Amino acid sequence: MLKLPLIVGRLLCWLGFHDFRVIDRTFGFGAGGGVEKVECQRCGVIITRSSPSN
Ligand SMILES: [Zn+2]
Repeated sequence: MLKLPLIVGRLLCWLGFHDFRVIDRTFGFGAGGGVEKVECQRCGVIITRSSPSN
């Protein structure tokens, strides 16, 4: 993993390029697929997004 200076990381977050890691994953049933919760390791924002199903 590339280590960036803090100011560069904050700039990337500000631009919307977060450094996400998956903290929770829910597997869906049927055709809907799952949902995963990801957290940015730099700014700490947490979002949920649908994970690709195969
Ligand atoms: Zn971020």
